[in-house]
Amino acid sequence: MTATWPLQLDSVEKWYGGFQALRGIDLHVDPGEFLTILGPSGSGKTTALKCVAGFELPDRGRISLGREDITDAPPSARDIGMVFQNYALFPHMTVAQNVAFPLKMRRTPRAEVARRVSEVLEMTELGALAKRLPKQLSGGQQQRVALARAVVFQPRLLLLDEPFGALDRQLREQMQMEVRRLQQALHLTCVFITHDQEEALVMSDRIAVLFEGEIQQVGTPEEIYDRPANLRVAEFVGESNILEARVLANGDTFSEIEAGSLRLRLPHGGSVHDAGQSVSVLVRPERLRPGYGTEGPSLRARVSETAYLGSTNRVLLETEDGRSLIMRLPAGMVRPTPGEVMDVGFDPDTARILRRHIAKEVA
Ligand code: ATP
Repeated sequence: MTATWPLQLDSVEKWYGGFQALRGIDLHVDPGEFLTILGPSGSGKTTALKCVAGFELPDRGRISLGREDITDAPPSARDIGMVFQNYALFPHMTVAQNVAFPLKMRRTPRAEVARRVSEVLEMTELGALAKRLPKQLSGGQQQRVALARAVVFQPRLLLLDEPFGALDRQLREQMQMEVRRLQQALHLTCVFITHDQEEALVMSDRIAVLFEGEIQQVGTPEEIYDRPANLRVAEFVGESNILEARVLANGDTFSEIEAGSLRLRLPHGGSVHDAGQSVSVLVRPERLRPGYGTEGPSLRARVSETAYLGSTNRVLLETEDGRSLIMRLPAGMVRPTPGEVMDVGFDPDTARILRRHIAKEVA
């Protein structure tokens, strides 16, 4: 089995000229953990990965793999496997030769190369394609070769930079499962980057959300989705209903909130807001339900649009005071009809009080 290593980033900063691409990144990835850096285009995901791989050097901070400080080590000395969106296979080499390449670079004995290549080709279901050239493969197959090549030398860490971006949805979902299976079978520490929140939620042990070079939150997919650290994280990760509200009073575990005609008692989760302060309240679309009035807060709303999405129905609503809401109902529940007026409500325990994101000034 592959030896696994923890990865640690401490206060990593990266500047491109006068532009700061990474602002004090602190991140720990456990041995065998699958951590995703999720962020919009330009947020610094690739820069962070390049610093870990050694293709860029941070201007400040420290990167360690296991007990070793690798901050300034050349890429070849880091023993890190990488997979990119554009496969980067050698076109003149067969599948087996591509996969064998990192072992040959490391002067691995011939018999061992043959054994490891055939083992990895088997694990990635490429055995039958060993003699083909990359141009004779589909996109999904090429990406599997890139993955086999990245793990064949038993790397200390596996980095994946938007590896499924070029694949269609079905193949993408299949590859997501395959990568996860392989990573778990080899117990590899893995950092994956994507701008696709669904992909991050499906694949990760934990997610680090990155905006403008700054980590907003690190947590399990459930924590990131159900308890986002701020409004921007909430809106980036999934659909949201955001109710503008005002804090009336605070209790030990609850805050009293006023949102339009609604009076709510919501868990504040320890981050108490001052009375009178404006806050946002997050209610995920699947937490809204028709006719919840007897058990929790409810709003009178008119159905403006409905859409059938297979496993769920998405219902767009307009409240009496002009707010737009999204509700997601399981496909088994009756789909309301446009024009219908109904009460919709939610269990207050599932709503979150959010602080607004305050971006640091770009120096
Ligand atoms: P994407 O999802 O689009 O790949 P990303 O989150 O990976 O984006 P980066 O590629 O890390 O983002 O880029 C972060 C910021 O740094 C961007 O504003 C980008 O324009 C800038 N940047 C990246 N590389 C360089 C460079 N070599 N020189 C100058 N600026 C750069």
